[in-house]
Amino acid sequence: TPLSGASLAVRGVSKLFGGNQALKDVNLLAEPGKVTAIIGPNGSGKTTLLNMVCGFYRTDQGEITLGKDRLDQLPPHRRARIGISRTFQTPNLPGGITVAEAVSSGRYMTSRASTWSAIFRTPGYRKVRRADLAEADRLLELAGLLHLRDTQAVALPLGMRRMLELARALIAGPRLLLLDETASGLDEDEVDRIASLLTRIRDAGATVILVEHNFRLVLELADHIVVLAHGEVIAEGPPAEIERNPRVLSEYLGT
Ligand code: ADP
Repeated sequence: TPLSGASLAVRGVSKLFGGNQALKDVNLLAEPGKVTAIIGPNGSGKTTLLNMVCGFYRTDQGEITLGKDRLDQLPPHRRARIGISRTFQTPNLPGGITVAEAVSSGRYMTSRASTWSAIFRTPGYRKVRRADLAEADRLLELAGLLHLRDTQAVALPLGMRRMLELARALIAGPRLLLLDETASGLDEDEVDRIASLLTRIRDAGATVILVEHNFRLVLELADHIVVLAHGEVIAEGPPAEIERNPRVLSEYLGT
C-alpha cells in the first residue's frame, strides 16, 4: 500500500524547560520516501524534538509544518489525524488483548483517543474491528508475527513488541512515522528485521524520522542524518559525510 508521505519542516524551533534550553533554533527538513535519522549524545534534545513534532510539547518559538499543514498549534490527536504516528521505546501494551487486536487498534490512534483504555472505550471499536483485523493480519505477516496473532500482546518479548508497535503505527497509514530508539535492547537478528521493515515503509513513500543510538543501523538505514548536541544542530548530511565529520566524532562518539 503506498503511503503518501509529506515533507516535515521544522523552522527555528526552540524549547525551554525552566532555565534549561533543550532546543535552540533547530531547523530540519525530512523528506518523503527517505529516512532521516536524529542522533546525538544523551540530553542533546532528540526526544524533545520528537515530542514537539507529535505534539506532546508545545513549541516556545518557531514553526513546524507537514506538507501544507501547520502543526505546531495543534494538539496531538489532531496531528495524528493528519497522519503522524509515533512509536515508543517501551511499548505500553494493555493486558487482555491479542497481538492482532493490538495492531488493529492502531487505527484509533487517529481519533481523539490518546491512551489505550480510551481506544477500547471508543464507540464503534467492536463494530469496525473485523475489517481492521484483516489488515492487521497483512501487517503481522510483514512483521513476521502472523503466527502469534492470537497470543496475548503483553506476553511478547521486547523485540516482538517493537515489531508489533511498528505494525500498529503502520495500520493508520502514516504520512510521517516517528521512531524512538526502536532498535535499543534488541539482538542483531531483530535489528535486521526492523531494518527491512523500515526500508519497506520508506520505499512505500512515508517520511520516516528515526531517533537512534545504534550507529550501525543509522549508517545502514538513513538517507540523511541530523546531529544534535546541547539542543543545537551541529551537523547534517548523508551517512558517508557524517561518518567522517570531525565535530560529530568528538561530540557524539567521544573520540
Ligand atoms: P535526548 O533525547 O537527546 O537524550 P532529551 O530531549 O530527553 O534528550 O533532553 C534534552 C534536555 O531537556 C535535557 O537537559 C533534559 O533534562 C531536558 N528535558 C527533557 N524533557 C524535559 C521535561 N519534561 N522537563 C524538564 N526538562 C526536560
